[in-house]
Amino acid sequence: MNHPSAHDQTVHFQSMGLDYRLLKTINHLGFTHATSIQQQAVPIAMHGKDLIASSKTGSGKTLAYVLPALNRCLTQKALSRRDPRVLILAPTRELARQVYAQVRLFTSNTALKSTCIVGGDNFNDQVKALQRQPHIIVATAGRLADHLEHRSVFLNGLELLILDEADRMLDLGFEAALRRIHNCADHKKRQTCLFSATLDHASVNLLANELLSDPVRIKIGEAAEKHQDIEQSFFFADHYDHKIDLLAHHLKELPIKQVMIFTATRDHTEQLAQHLEQQGYRALPLSGKLSQAKRHQIMDDFSRNKYQVLVTTDVASRGLDIHTVSHVINFDLPKHEEEYIHRVGRTGRAGQKGAALSYIGPKDWDAFTRLKALLEQALEMSVVAGLEAQFSGFKPRKQKKAKAVSGSDKKTKAAIGQSSKKKSKKPRNKDFYLAQDAGEAPVKRKPKTSD
Ligand code: ADP
Ligand code: MG
Repeated sequence: MNHPSAHDQTVHFQSMGLDYRLLKTINHLGFTHATSIQQQAVPIAMHGKDLIASSKTGSGKTLAYVLPALNRCLTQKALSRRDPRVLILAPTRELARQVYAQVRLFTSNTALKSTCIVGGDNFNDQVKALQRQPHIIVATAGRLADHLEHRSVFLNGLELLILDEADRMLDLGFEAALRRIHNCADHKKRQTCLFSATLDHASVNLLANELLSDPVRIKIGEAAEKHQDIEQSFFFADHYDHKIDLLAHHLKELPIKQVMIFTATRDHTEQLAQHLEQQGYRALPLSGKLSQAKRHQIMDDFSRNKYQVLVTTDVASRGLDIHTVSHVINFDLPKHEEEYIHRVGRTGRAGQKGAALSYIGPKDWDAFTRLKALLEQALEMSVVAGLEAQFSGFKPRKQKKAKAVSGSDKKTKAAIGQSSKKKSKKPRNKDFYLAQDAGEAPVKRKPKTSD
């Protein structure tokens, strides 16, 4: 397999002091050396320090926390015989399952027990799984908090709490669940680690102040920095049908192995997937609207390459690692600009090359303006011959002397300059997530049946 970053110095896993059983699996996977984030995070986490770590998408963050967590379980005495030792939280069920698969892989030749606790699965089955006293739990926060309330799990003996995609959990309104989990495991010996590609928000700092003590911060690259392995392009579109035409063109012309297409709403995923099926593509819609069994089936089918196209919402923007995803298409831009970084990061993983295309219609303009501010880059517009758009952006509301963006020079590769040097630090708009696909948001759940 390709190495996640050509810039990483060669640090072999063998020199990190990891248990031989973990090294055996690493060898089996063919990983020759650690990625930058692994080189930096693993020793600090193994030392027992609290940690806030960020690095780009696809750079190997999962093993950066799974390896020290499992090493601890394999080499150190447990604080409690009954309670779980490690709890890993993820914002979506799909991501939790993926992380759980890694944990399973690395514990298969050990006596460590693990389980995955996510919303949508049968609660009583989970109670039984928890009664078997797993050492490691991978979970979504809402459902785990339900189990705490139900007293089917206790966290007094928890040694390590890991929050993957911590910022997204806050976006989705899991703050109360996280706090509850923290309070149930609030003792001096607990270690806490936060991971994401985007951890710059004030809300994350507030949470970190509460949950972590004297954390070490690791930041490899800036979140807004251009991902070198992902070629990114932007196309103006006048309306929905125009986007459909662009999509038809790109699906036909690009060397697509698999593609994830992101839409703004759950309903649009179905509509668009249906349309693509009619055009002869093997396309699946994935959104938080579906039953858990269906979601699981769809992810399974897509990751086994039975389907070429996945039409989805931000429920799939984070963490998913499918190597054959060669392209990401933002049919609509995400309203929350940081999700753009995560969406495009579904391709270009582990050193592979990928491409991301985004369609910018009038409804996407505000999001595009925020995205430019976040990325602090001039985003070049591309054009498909014969599919040129009339739309070329709205003029800035506060009109000073500055030129209107793009103006009459609309077509070929007009560079759209960055509108602001400042990153937008405004508080997140929770209402948006209620109206859109709230992923695992607790507001959507029925008591005891989901996250
Ligand atoms: P991130 O969480 O940073 O987005 P992941 O942990 O999902 O990234 O890892 C991305 C991909 O890189 C996965 O397929 C993983 O198996 C692979 N990977 C992780 N560590 C290494 C390594 N040291 N060498 C090669 N590939 C790796
Ligand atoms: Mg990840």
